[in-house]
Amino acid sequence: MKTISLIGSTGSIGTQTLQVCKKHNIKVRALAVKKNTGLLEAQAREFLPEVVCIYEESLYKELRDRLSDTGIKVLCGMEGLCEIASLDTDLFVNSAVGMVGLLPTLTAIEHGRDIALANKETLVAGGHLVMSAAERKNVRIYPIDSEHSAIFQCLQGNKREQVRKLILTASGGPFFGKKKHELENVTPEQALAHPNWSMGKKITIDSATLMNKGLEFIEARWLFGIDPENIEIIVNRESVLHSAVEFDDFSVIGQMGVPDMKIPIQYALLYPERLDCDVKPLSFTDYGTLTFAKPDLETFECLSGCIEAIRRGGAYPCIVNAVNEEAVGLFLDGKIPFLKIGELVLESLKAFPMLPVESYEDIKKADSAAREYVRENI
Ligand code: MN
Repeated sequence: MKTISLIGSTGSIGTQTLQVCKKHNIKVRALAVKKNTGLLEAQAREFLPEVVCIYEESLYKELRDRLSDTGIKVLCGMEGLCEIASLDTDLFVNSAVGMVGLLPTLTAIEHGRDIALANKETLVAGGHLVMSAAERKNVRIYPIDSEHSAIFQCLQGNKREQVRKLILTASGGPFFGKKKHELENVTPEQALAHPNWSMGKKITIDSATLMNKGLEFIEARWLFGIDPENIEIIVNRESVLHSAVEFDDFSVIGQMGVPDMKIPIQYALLYPERLDCDVKPLSFTDYGTLTFAKPDLETFECLSGCIEAIRRGGAYPCIVNAVNEEAVGLFLDGKIPFLKIGELVLESLKAFPMLPVESYEDIKKADSAAREYVRENI
């Protein structure tokens, strides 16, 4: 029986990961969440892991009390997440949201654990560090994000050195076709209404600003070891083509399916098997038409900011990520307007000098400085 440990189990990816585990009889040895003790308790009683962890340390006692009759070991904080990442399982599934996911990833790699990765910040902030450590430890990283899973699937049976470019698709988000002046008064409710994908709050706002595509652009650069110049972003409004690869012979292989995260989650968990999945089959004739467009880099400054950040390298990807994370929180709290998110991302590129990233500490330092920058500039 295959075994996994999972952090971020109460989020959108986490709950769907558990559905896949249930369907395919995968043993869940550990669960971790940020603060949702109620749902974590329910999951723990259903999946009976040996250990659970609550990141928010103030909730440790509450969780321990809730599970006191189960014999399940309860951990807390970053130390707990890292203990879970080091557990002896077939796969460490990281679906935490934000920078908090980076250290557990590095810990899993140090212990030689293969990783199914949904946490974008791991590669955005620590791409070079993570990929070189994974290579050194011979650790495989299976992408869960739908676009990267698509590219990973298209590469199967093909030679990496015969790839001409990666074609990363975007849905365009709820504000596709809009210009800046039309986005001045966007409310959090409007930004949270995504046309195709149902996801957590942070990533839904990132999809509205196209920051999400920017983060994915950076992720793709590291995950597939490709020059940013050779990644093209295109909009597919229907989110049916999940991404594609162009090879040296100009043959393009794409991966398609209905927009449902269970497909990429299951592929990462069961790789290389393709077993039955609880999703709707794709019907081309129901769609009738698939539409494609170029992304609007002028309106969506978060996307152009990310592309510039990875071209420059160093700590810039980490900085734009941290600036965005802070800005999204402020926007959801009604403290800054929608367009200010992109503005802060672009301006941070001018505000910071080139900073080196040679260690986890370097990343933490750049991350903190970027968050401080946002607090000083609103
Ligand atoms: Mn995605």
